[in-house]
Amino acid sequence: MAVLLIGEVTDGQLGLDSTAKAVTAAAKLGEVHVLCAGASARGAAEQAAQIQGVSKVLVAEDPALGHRLAEPTAALVVSLASGYSHVVAPATTDAKNVLPRVAALLDVMVISDVSGVVDADTFERPIYAGNAIQTVTSSDAIKVATIRTAGFDAAPLGNAAPIEAAPGATDPGLSQWIEDRTAHSGRPELTSAPVVVSGGRGIGSKEGFEIVEKLADKLGAAVGASRAAVDAGYAPNDWQVGQTGKVVAPNLYVALGISGAIQHLAGMKDSKFIVAINKDAEAPIFQVADFGLVADLFTAVPELTEKL
Ligand code: FAD
Repeated sequence: MAVLLIGEVTDGQLGLDSTAKAVTAAAKLGEVHVLCAGASARGAAEQAAQIQGVSKVLVAEDPALGHRLAEPTAALVVSLASGYSHVVAPATTDAKNVLPRVAALLDVMVISDVSGVVDADTFERPIYAGNAIQTVTSSDAIKVATIRTAGFDAAPLGNAAPIEAAPGATDPGLSQWIEDRTAHSGRPELTSAPVVVSGGRGIGSKEGFEIVEKLADKLGAAVGASRAAVDAGYAPNDWQVGQTGKVVAPNLYVALGISGAIQHLAGMKDSKFIVAINKDAEAPIFQVADFGLVADLFTAVPELTEKL
């Protein structure tokens, strides 16, 4: 049996990094087939075919699949699932919308946020905001799982897997696309950026975030925020990092005026290198930081930005 991996397709392009990381996890379970579904998905399929470890790419192109509506995508996945032992996807917002529906339609459990593969039936996943790792064994005939990509290296490129058309599925007609409102930013995407600079409540105001953004721009980084900063209106919602925000694992994470609550750490502690600037030497962020600077960020950050 093989693994069906749902690739993340946006405007015809593949989320290459998240898909390549999920391939590394899926390859531990068996032969990997990647499904690229969208109104136009051929380009995404060609990208997926280049990932080493992928033995086949299925491409499904249909206007009904074009706007990330979970219902037609779930119907398509269910129509293909009987040929597979596992149906997996990177744990993105879209996959968290689609895979629980797939699991329900197949009458199996969904195993979310897999951070480790023990064997074909047994998986590790973080619980309690990442403070404990749960080992789960499933006896379901088809395992449906989302993969927490931060825990896996991206499979390298350099493959030419065959691409086949997937048989179409009927749109259940349960939902209708009205409009997308997207935030445009010249900065890298938060969850895949190699460098992230985040600000917390210590930034003190919306205007204060300018110093976070200036440092981020100097480093070519994405900007993140703690929930306290988002709740206070200093930063937009989609910048939130943490248990109830985005999970990031960049090469470098810079935390400015962030205390390091466990719910924040849950979203960034897998970062390879953590730098913290905080005026409180006892702040818990220093327990996970590789480099810590006890300083007033309003002095230290502009100085750092200028020196860079
Ligand atoms: P604070 O804890 O107030 O810390 C501010 C820090 O700034 C302090 O350490 C202070 O010393 C420092 N500081 C102040 N002024 C300066 C200065 N001038 N120079 C340098 N340092 C300064 N939080 C998240 O971030 N993400 C989540 O996803 C999330 N999910 C949650 C889910 C649940 C169910 C719950 C209960 C909470 C969640 N939280 C989350 C909230 C979390 O518990 C903390 O309240 C939050 O992370 C605190 O944010 P902060 O570190 O910015 O603020």
